[in-house]
Order: sequence, then C-alpha cells, then structure tokens
Amino acid sequence: MNLKLIKLEAKEIFTKTKLPGADWAINQYVGCEHACLYCYAKFIQRWRPKDYGKWGGWIEAKMNAPDLVKGRYIEGWAYMSSISDPYSEIEKELELTKRVLENLDKRIKLSIQTKSDLVLRDINIFKQFKTIEVGLTINSFEGKSKEIFEPYSSSNEKRIRTLSILKENGIKTFAFISPIIPELIDLKKVIEETKEYAGYYFFEFLNMRAAGIECINAIKDNFPESYEVLTNKKRYLEFIKESKEIITREKVNVRGIEIH
Ligand code: SF4
Repeated sequence: MNLKLIKLEAKEIFTKTKLPGADWAINQYVGCEHACLYCYAKFIQRWRPKDYGKWGGWIEAKMNAPDLVKGRYIEGWAYMSSISDPYSEIEKELELTKRVLENLDKRIKLSIQTKSDLVLRDINIFKQFKTIEVGLTINSFEGKSKEIFEPYSSSNEKRIRTLSILKENGIKTFAFISPIIPELIDLKKVIEETKEYAGYYFFEFLNMRAAGIECINAIKDNFPESYEVLTNKKRYLEFIKESKEIITREKVNVRGIEIH
C-alpha cells in the first residue's frame, strides 16, 4: 500500500484517556499502516482531510514527539498508543517510538501494545523503565481471516514468539485477545498457546459499532456462520457465556473482559 506520510509538529504528546487501566495516551503517530478492517481508531478519519484517503493509507508523524517528552513527568499509567500502532512499518525509518522511549522519564509507568514483532528492537530501552508492560494483540487470524481483517501486521506465530522473547528478557507482558469473533477464534487454543508467556490477559469481543459497516459486511460475505451468531441475540449471548466458561477453565490471570 502506498503510504501518505504527513510530518508535523505537535504541541502536546500526553493526552488524557479513559481507556481501561490508563490515565494518559501517547500517540507519536496518528493513523496506522496495519489497516485492520475492524480498527476502532478509524473514527479519527472524520476529522482529517478527504485527500488523506482510506484508513490505513496515511500516517501523521509528530516529528517533535521525542522533544515533547523530554524533562516531563506524569503520574499514573501512560498507554502507547491509542490511535496508532507504535511499531508499524514507518517506525523502521523514522524511529519516533524509539526516540520517544529513549527520552521518556523512566519513572513513568508505561504500557505498550502492538501487533508487530518490531517491538523486540527496543527491549534494551524497556529494561531501563521502573514499571513497564508490553502486550501483543493476539487473535489467531490466519489465511483468509488474516488477509481480510489484518493484512499488514505480524503473523499470529510471530506475535506469540515476540511475547515469549519479551518474557525471556524479564519484561512484564500481557496478551490482548481481540477481537473475539464467533467461529473465527478458538479461545482455548489461543490461551493455551500464550499462557506460558502472558503475565495477564485482557479479552475483548468484537465491537460491531466501532468496527463499522465495511467490516460487518466482510464478515457477512466471507464468514456467514460468524455473522449468523453475531446477529442472533440468543446465539450471541450463548457464545459469550461459553467463551467466559472457557476463560474461567483456563485459570489465567484476567484483567478484563470487554463486551460491547
Ligand atoms: S494495529 Fe491497532 S491502530 Fe493499527 S489499524 Fe490495527 S487496530 Fe487500528
């Protein structure tokens, strides 16, 4: 995909957030090359010029982000990032995430979440933080579902391997299991493949409203069985109940289960 890169200077880099478990968000990038079809952050597109094009095809890079964090301290948890992935392809070239991490006050409590194995590049910087956790979004999409929902991020296998390397290096880890879609995610298998490496779990069922009509239509056309369950209240509630039972049986450390 041809990327439209918009380099800009920002006024502020810490923004207040209501995301679970976080007080601040750090977005050195806005927009995301991973272009996940269900992405909830794409609402931001409404406030961007039409000529940016489709979600996933553009990125705003706050070129002064590393300077903005210098000498700053914030109380509470900072989450990186809420409207981008800090480790999409452009990071290899710009190294904004890396430089922000280098300059951040290492006493700040930091939570990083990504779908990319590029995160491993910064392990030595993570080790300098007093309180840090690094999470991988894992959902086991492969083949057709990977191509449709998350065409440009690391494979499921690479993400699990990334989680294991982080753990080996003494970094606190978490697995964000999302989006849970009936018939497409084998929850038991996902948990069993990751439980050795994930310090804790956060589970999230697909947010149909935020995922948007394009995503729902893609499910309808390509995975009719999933669509059937998603759109039948009784069956969907049953699916949620069964999923929760699986999670309980696996006896893992669960921080949250988000049902929309
Ligand atoms: S990686 Fe996250 S921010 Fe990026 S497109 Fe996917 S869901 Fe959206």
